Amino acid sequence: MVDSLKNIKFLDTTLRDGEQSPGVSLTVDEKLWIARKLDSLGVDIIEAGSAITSKGERESMKAVANEGLNAEIASYCRIKTIDVDKALECDVDAIHLVVPVSDLHIERKLKKDRETVLQEAVSVCEYAKDHGLIVELSGEDASRADLDYLTSVYKAGVGAGADRLCFCDTVGVLTPEKTAEVFSKISDLGAPISVHCHNDFGMATANTVAALRAGASCAHVTINGIGERAGNTPLEEVVMVLESLYNTKTNIDCKQIYTISRLVSRLTGMAVAPNKAIVGTNAFTHEAGIHVHGLMADTRTYESIRPEMVGRERKIVLGKHAGSSSVELALRELGLVIDDKQLKEIVARIKDVADRGKRITDADLQSIAETVLEITSHPRVTLKELTVVSGTVTPTASIKLTMDGIDVVESGIGTGPVDAAIVAIRKAISEMADISLEEYHVDAITGGTDALVEVIVKLSRDGKITTARGARSDIIMASVEAVVAGINQLMKNKD
Ligand code: MN
Repeated sequence: MVDSLKNIKFLDTTLRDGEQSPGVSLTVDEKLWIARKLDSLGVDIIEAGSAITSKGERESMKAVANEGLNAEIASYCRIKTIDVDKALECDVDAIHLVVPVSDLHIERKLKKDRETVLQEAVSVCEYAKDHGLIVELSGEDASRADLDYLTSVYKAGVGAGADRLCFCDTVGVLTPEKTAEVFSKISDLGAPISVHCHNDFGMATANTVAALRAGASCAHVTINGIGERAGNTPLEEVVMVLESLYNTKTNIDCKQIYTISRLVSRLTGMAVAPNKAIVGTNAFTHEAGIHVHGLMADTRTYESIRPEMVGRERKIVLGKHAGSSSVELALRELGLVIDDKQLKEIVARIKDVADRGKRITDADLQSIAETVLEITSHPRVTLKELTVVSGTVTPTASIKLTMDGIDVVESGIGTGPVDAAIVAIRKAISEMADISLEEYHVDAITGGTDALVEVIVKLSRDGKITTARGARSDIIMASVEAVVAGINQLMKNKD
């Protein structure tokens, strides 16, 4: 454990910097929902928005502030007393008082000078303290500011009553080395200091961790790293780096990480990249092949984080390279126990689907496996061949079945190819006379015209009802298979 990493706090700004992502706008209810989840996740401070922005923003922030959450609720403020007044209207506990500190921001954006900005920062800080607010005084564009000037702003802020300080890498230009050097100089100015990073070079997490190691006591983060441009430091990455790589316990309930990631993605409409660390779809997904063999022996061989730690599950994606061991592992993950013969049949069917360029999902695998389990455990009737002719001709089907070891060949015509096939089965199996098809239901499991089709049939005989399924990429095959499975079940029941 690294000592400086003890008791790290998290300020989550998903609802402020995150909401500033292009095209994102959250309703009052959506902000409240996310705030409740952030609180239950265990973040210390929630930056709920910027009170000056609009009436709607203030309504959301007031709702969050009055929700009775454990977290401190903060509003973003510029160095203007009107911003503080608007924050006070929202009943927040704290303000994140952002002071532009680089000459670029002071001269080009504000058209002011260093001394004026410093005086304004002091007076707004005093004003907020007089009104009972907690103040985190932040240096905006601090990574491109003159360090002596930045230090004087921080010291003046502490003199004016600021409770915390913050260093903003507003355009994401820090490196871990520079971060460590700067924080070793500003971590002891009379108030705890936070770090606020942006991900323009993909360095936000590395820089945030470097700052924490060099004396910062709080990390500004967002869920999924959403935020302006390339985004902010992702909460899930910093938390898991501290927990897993620095062996440091945080106050975050890691098991909730994936749920809140999905929630924020859904409500903001910002998709998470499949290969995003910790929360991407593929982060714990393994394509069948040599790696799965290693995973079978010990999941640590190809996983540095246990998926359960962040509330996720391991997924095995099967394709045409799928071998028995990967299929077996995938089935084990689904909680299905099978014998060697069944495994062989399942693998054959997976290859059949995969050869047509399809990806096998968990739902596909489960369906294939359940079908095989039904067939192999009730073997009185098995389908050997099926030929169907349809189109602008009368739909005709011919089948070859084995019943109790004897081959039977039959054909039938019907209103459609599925009907024709079932007519043929009926003729082939005398016992079908008293079996009737009660229900027939088709579903495309994974969507698309080339998807795996699942057919569920309900058959009855002498008042006994059975449900059976078939899963194939061919709808007629799936239907016949379901009917044959159902017949086997009913015949077994009678025996
Ligand atoms: Mn920011």
